[in-house]
Amino acid sequence: MTGIRPPGLTDREWVTRAVADAEIPALMVALADALGDDSMVPDDLRPPNRKVALPEAQGGLSQQQQTIARGRAVDGVLRLLAGDDRVAPKSKGDKGFRRRLMDYLIGDVDGSLLKLLDRELGYESAEAEPAAVGALAEDFTVAIIGGGMSGIAMAYRLKRAGIPFVILEKNHDMGGTWLENVYPGVRLDTNNFAYGFSFAQTKDWTHQFSEGSTILEYFRSLCDSENLWPHFRFSTRVDAATFDATTGSWTLEVTSDGVADTVTARALVSAVGQLNLPKLPDIVGVGEFSGLEMHSARWDPNVDLVGQRVAVIGTGASAYQVVPAIAADVEQLHVFQRTAPWIMPTRGYYEPLKPGFAWLLQVVPNYERWFRFWQFWTATEGRLPYVGVDPEWKEPGSVSAANRELREVLESRIREQFTDREDLMAQVIPDYPPGAKRMLRDGGAWSTTLKRDNVGLHTEGIRSIEPTGISTVDGSLIEVDVIIYCTGFQAANSLDPIRITGLEGLSLKEHWSGDPRAYLGITIPHFPNLYCLYGPNTNLVVNGSATFMTEAAVDYILASITTMIREGYRYLDCTPEALERFIADVDSANAERAWGVESVTSWYKSSSGRVSQVWPYDLTTYWNLTRDVDLDDYTVVVENGT
Ligand code: NAP
Repeated sequence: MTGIRPPGLTDREWVTRAVADAEIPALMVALADALGDDSMVPDDLRPPNRKVALPEAQGGLSQQQQTIARGRAVDGVLRLLAGDDRVAPKSKGDKGFRRRLMDYLIGDVDGSLLKLLDRELGYESAEAEPAAVGALAEDFTVAIIGGGMSGIAMAYRLKRAGIPFVILEKNHDMGGTWLENVYPGVRLDTNNFAYGFSFAQTKDWTHQFSEGSTILEYFRSLCDSENLWPHFRFSTRVDAATFDATTGSWTLEVTSDGVADTVTARALVSAVGQLNLPKLPDIVGVGEFSGLEMHSARWDPNVDLVGQRVAVIGTGASAYQVVPAIAADVEQLHVFQRTAPWIMPTRGYYEPLKPGFAWLLQVVPNYERWFRFWQFWTATEGRLPYVGVDPEWKEPGSVSAANRELREVLESRIREQFTDREDLMAQVIPDYPPGAKRMLRDGGAWSTTLKRDNVGLHTEGIRSIEPTGISTVDGSLIEVDVIIYCTGFQAANSLDPIRITGLEGLSLKEHWSGDPRAYLGITIPHFPNLYCLYGPNTNLVVNGSATFMTEAAVDYILASITTMIREGYRYLDCTPEALERFIADVDSANAERAWGVESVTSWYKSSSGRVSQVWPYDLTTYWNLTRDVDLDDYTVVVENGT
């Protein structure tokens, strides 16, 4: 880190520069904690932005507050550097102080959040609970399908718990979505401090929103540090899984490097994710184009787009990253938009961390953890109140007064970017409520790209794909060399490619019939000892990080598996009643969210129209629900019978 400090500065001068780059509210808390000094977090320097439509810089602290806070922070950092103050965080042994710091940062302290904070700060080790099961686990193998984010989280925790496991991965390497999505421009749309695992936080991010390759490396580093590699079976596709009630185990039919094989395991964890099956659009002529057609998730890095006439179909999260990344290379770029996306202006979306901030992360204990927690709360949980449906609300384009407030803020930010292009303005303002689909991180590149001379935005609707290009409903034919389908994924069908057979020969594909349902998004009646990660009803639209949901589900699965091992159960089968109760609850809650409104279609809904993919509540609710396995929710089959 010394490399980023310009030579010739005194310590005070350098620290003053560094603090100018800092994210102040989290820095004040980290310093208060490290120094045991609550003068760092006085009431008159509290960040006023908590639950706001769009978080302001520095939590909404005024310039004057920022100046005062920075002055104190500089003194605090110098005290830390001098080494004559305490460096063990005071909050570790002092719950009252912990609460005080949390209250300063987010103001919304309740008991369960404090517990969550303990985990975030590393005070309550995730790996410590449930305790390792030792020799009892010897005969109990877990098979994980998929070595992406969720599979790695599960593997990491199983390894720590001493439970044998294998990860069956269809690709040649780990990484899942981050391995497969290599389209130009791919990067996180959740702040990476919040996207990393609570149990493997790092100070070493180079950006707040990292590129895909950096995330892949983050997961690779966990496979290295935990020595997960021997547990992987790469190039191994799971074709079928059948449960045997007499042994309480799953038999998997796999194709490994082209050779058929079988694998048996007592528990089966699906970590295939919701976004692993690319969806091609239901447009006449797909597949009949004479040029190159490519889905965003099947990007061929060898394709050279320089000088090509390219069409991109779709304006969702993937297109929003692809389009700006390729526009300068191609000769012409035709963007086909069916529905305009809502965008979320994000300061520094593409920029590397400011050097002073990066340095402070290294020298102030737990700064990265407090920053993550602050991000988690204000940028994720804080948004939820803006997407609730008011049944009395009649205004089109919003679902409540708060939602209209969000619309106004976001719409004004879109308008600002298109004042010089009235022709585009009408096309880029969405007509549906914000929050009904994922809002896209905007660093300004989308508007700049759409205004380029070689880029055209088409909203007239596609009639068909022809051998030479795209024909639109107004009768034009737009001739292109390449078509890129940024048309998303078949989320509700993501487990369909695997023939999964549960009790009494029940087929999961037929049972779900395109409308997946799992208790807590994890367990499914009649499919004992089968667990889903990032399963049905666990995706987040506005408030979240998928890793958070996965970690919570991993806790639950681990608790279930260790209970089975300790008690010698043959299997646990979720009761239909528990599932029905859960589904009735999430269905009614989803109906009260912007993404549940009937008029909006999205990948969150199954073919029946039910919101099958999204979690409707806040993250802490899910966290609380996944702390313990209530055996009343399960039929427990012991070794010698029911
Ligand atoms: P998506 O959000 O489902 O977007 C698909 C796009 O294709 C939409 O604009 C859709 O229009 C359009 N489309 C679909 N069928 C069409 C048709 N027949 N004719 C015309 N247009 C059609 O898919 P995605 O962009 O791949 O993103 C999926 C999810 O992946 C995201 O919601 C996000 O959770 C995740 N993701 C994350 C990142 C990240 O973290 N950086 C990046 C990419 C994706 P309509 O809106 O009208 O249906």
